[in-house]
Amino acid sequence: MKIETRAIHLGHEIDPGTGAIAPPIYLTTTYERDADGTYPRGHVYSRLSNPNRQSLEKAIAGLEGGTVAATFSSGLAAIMSLFQSLSAGDHVIASQDLYHGTTKILKEIFGPWNLEASFVDTTVESEVAQAVRGNTKLVFLETPSNPTLKITDIKAISGIAHSVGAHCVCDNTWATPILQRPLELGADLVIHSTTKYFGGHSDVLGGAVVGKTDDTFFQRLRLIQQIGGAVPSPFDCWLVSRGLQTLPCRIRNHSENALKIAEFLNQHPRVERVYYPGLPGHPGYKIARQQMSMFGGMLSFQVLGDQKSALAVTGRVKIIARATSLGGVESLIEHRSSIEGPESTTPNNLLRFSVGLENVEDLIADLEQALAL
Ligand SMILES: *Cc1c(COP(=O)(O)O)cnc(C)c1O
Repeated sequence: MKIETRAIHLGHEIDPGTGAIAPPIYLTTTYERDADGTYPRGHVYSRLSNPNRQSLEKAIAGLEGGTVAATFSSGLAAIMSLFQSLSAGDHVIASQDLYHGTTKILKEIFGPWNLEASFVDTTVESEVAQAVRGNTKLVFLETPSNPTLKITDIKAISGIAHSVGAHCVCDNTWATPILQRPLELGADLVIHSTTKYFGGHSDVLGGAVVGKTDDTFFQRLRLIQQIGGAVPSPFDCWLVSRGLQTLPCRIRNHSENALKIAEFLNQHPRVERVYYPGLPGHPGYKIARQQMSMFGGMLSFQVLGDQKSALAVTGRVKIIARATSLGGVESLIEHRSSIEGPESTTPNNLLRFSVGLENVEDLIADLEQALAL
């Protein structure tokens, strides 16, 4: 079956008891045993498993082309579980340009636990090859990256990881499996903040890890999910499951709008630089065309001038909302370096834009008036 059909039907079996088309939400925390003490219906206690989570994990694994998935209460909880699956003394290679929370987790939480991390430019294969050590267990990529949309060659970097027996993990939050399927390109694991495009409506936090195989690494991660307990609620799972059904059509519409806006900004005299992998001048354009089917709904741009000039633009938008996060139906714009904090290396005139599903002409008109002096 094609991805649109799978998005609608995977994990959405009609409820056998009632015939309900939309799945019920199982708020129960606990499940009855049979008289002989067994659990013939599979569930014991909702931290360990519950029907809504099970359906969501099945759908996410299927869409990414993996065999297993574990969902969490946030994207960062999913990323935590990944590093918690390693041991002290292990080494991780990570992209320099990453969601800032991922970098923080590695430096501030796992650094003191003696998990070593090297941050390299993963768009340059030789930098990754040079960073590899005997104890390298994980190579963590994010492509397109946050916030400057760098494109990493997933196939090439997975090859380097595998040459030393390390797992290659790709944060696929910005592309989603509709545009890019890292497991098919060689990655072993995929990460998602389901808060973003999967949920799609800015109303639920969540995360997921998808495994290509149910190997010992993934089994340890599953243990951390069940015993560590950073699990999503049944209602959270239900919301993300519903979001997934419209993911293919939303993502295409986000991508179409974003390309038009990137082209508009790219010729605007008050814009210094546009970061969007669908523009032929973008350094990752060629690889993006190979590994993505469209270029996604996220872009960043530098406003000519300084931080004040950039903030002035956000001060004038009328339809587009000033807020962090991404992937919802509504367009969001944000001044990125101020949300990333004092250690941010993001240019202070950079605005990140999550292109929503409004009519693109209305969005362009809003940007046009916001950029006018
Ligand atoms: C938002 C985001 C995260 C973190 O997810 P939360 O759900 O906010 O915890 C991780 N990676 C990427 C690429 C993100 O955009």
